[in-house]
Amino acid sequence: MAKDNDCIFCKLANGDIPTNLLYENDLAAAFADANPQAPVHVLVVPKDHYANIIDGIPADVLAAMVDAVDHVARERGLDKAGFRTIMNTGEAAGQTVNHVHMHILGGTSLGEGLL
Ligand code: AMP
Ligand code: ZN
Repeated sequence: MAKDNDCIFCKLANGDIPTNLLYENDLAAAFADANPQAPVHVLVVPKDHYANIIDGIPADVLAAMVDAVDHVARERGLDKAGFRTIMNTGEAAGQTVNHVHMHILGGTSLGEGLL
């Protein structure tokens, strides 16, 4: 799988559009959500283009995304405070950017889980 030239998250994750990467490893990157829904709202994305979580993402890419979640969570103190991860898949679930991304939400009480 490669980059998609028309995809904004491909460009952000690979530095083709300058952004403040909060963390990166070889296969994934983390940056702040432009429209934060919580005091901490970070997006973790693979550097290669996959549309969503069921788009055949290789295990090493998934592991790199989890590594990025781990780093961001610890750096923001969310490892102790707790946080929520969300991946929306498809229009009905509210996916607006068709490059797979994991939301990390935290820094406040988020209430009970599941919607
Ligand atoms: P979703 O609705 O799950 O597809 O989430 C897409 C998220 O991407 C939203 O929370 C947007 O605020 C965020 N977003 C869209 N464009 C950008 C951008 N250029 N930089 C950072 N976040 C963005
Ligand atoms: Zn992409």
